[in-house]
Amino acid sequence: MPNPYWIKVYFDKDTEPTRFSPDRQIEEEGSAFRNALKKARDCKAYAVCLCNRGKELPLAIRLRNDNHSLAKYPNTGKEHVMDCRFYSRLNPEGGQKTYTEKALNESNSGIVKITLDYPLQTRSTVIEQDKVIDDEIPRRPYRNVKKRNTMSLLGLLHTLWETAGYNVWVPGMDGKRNSTQLGYNLFRQAEKIQSNGILLSEVLMTPARRGTMDEARNKSVLQSAIEKKRRLVVVSELAQFSDERKHGTGRLPVQNFAGMPFLNIDDSRWKSALQRFSIEAHAWAAGFKIFAIAVTDVPGPASATVRQVGLIMVSDRFIPLDSAYESVVEKILYENKRTFIKPLVYDSAESEYLPDFCLTDVTAGDSQPFPIEVWGMKTAEYLAHREVKTEWYNKEFGRFGWWSWDAAQDPQGVTIKPFPPAERDVMNEIMK
Ligand SMILES: [Zn+2]
Repeated sequence: MPNPYWIKVYFDKDTEPTRFSPDRQIEEEGSAFRNALKKARDCKAYAVCLCNRGKELPLAIRLRNDNHSLAKYPNTGKEHVMDCRFYSRLNPEGGQKTYTEKALNESNSGIVKITLDYPLQTRSTVIEQDKVIDDEIPRRPYRNVKKRNTMSLLGLLHTLWETAGYNVWVPGMDGKRNSTQLGYNLFRQAEKIQSNGILLSEVLMTPARRGTMDEARNKSVLQSAIEKKRRLVVVSELAQFSDERKHGTGRLPVQNFAGMPFLNIDDSRWKSALQRFSIEAHAWAAGFKIFAIAVTDVPGPASATVRQVGLIMVSDRFIPLDSAYESVVEKILYENKRTFIKPLVYDSAESEYLPDFCLTDVTAGDSQPFPIEVWGMKTAEYLAHREVKTEWYNKEFGRFGWWSWDAAQDPQGVTIKPFPPAERDVMNEIMK
């Protein structure tokens, strides 16, 4: 299918790029377009889509079964105009591939449709509320399992984070991110996410300060949830760690909660959440930023009871992190003014092939971002998985290389190698 927009293909430095109008984008053996893609890929160049005026949106050149073709570059789909064939708010090449169409899909009008593990709409009785919701978010399975027909609360948090672009870092964002601005941006994404027929923005509360529009927004969400008998979904940053808060105060310890009701949670449920999210709980005690996503019963005017809670750890730049080792790498990337993506895992199995980070200012094979891996464990099961994943990296990226740090053997990071030097910063071009 040709793109209705012009495409520009770059080659080596000494060759002028070629522009292809829609009717010249013929993807046939021997066509000028196909030859150009082959030539570009062979010299590690790239192609761009010109649908969005003034922006050169990068495209990946893929080689599959001897055919060269174009694909969306990760995390750039929503930059294309809506009738461009590369437009998408989803990134199905990442952790989202764990879902069936039933769990996650995108309508032609750009609405992301999700089926959550539980309905946000309740009927009326307290008994029914008790029945339908499982208090615990299941842990990620280690090995591949069948695709999921529903999404967990944590998967929903990843959807919000990724569609709002908070798993992407470009140096130009330095000093510009904060918790309430994140709250606003997550809310804007929620206006285009539907769960079981309900627009997520009608039930989502996000960080807000007193006396702001954000507070007013949270208040109106609360009012509407009461009237329509819907559960609330709350995303908020945990308050600073203290032993008292760890042991439980009867309330979810969050900050920037203007406009939210009190979020009641019994101490045993809170402790069980901290046990299941033990990496995040340790990081909280160590002073990291931790965000919670919680789903409540239908709220009252002053309080709501939390039924499920999930946690993620993020860097000072709000980039999600799976371990303290990853925070070391993320900080080096930041200090070196690199541009990168953190692929999010959603509800996929631990053994899915996702790099821990991807540099977008270095091109690996197929004009893909350059993968970075942090080996963080020594268990027999992990080591077996590591062997298989290493083979995968060598096969997929061997020609251009990949980066790794064996943090399990060298937790001090003595052996951390320099990253490959930056070449062309595709994300920076989009974000500016
Ligand atoms: Zn486009």
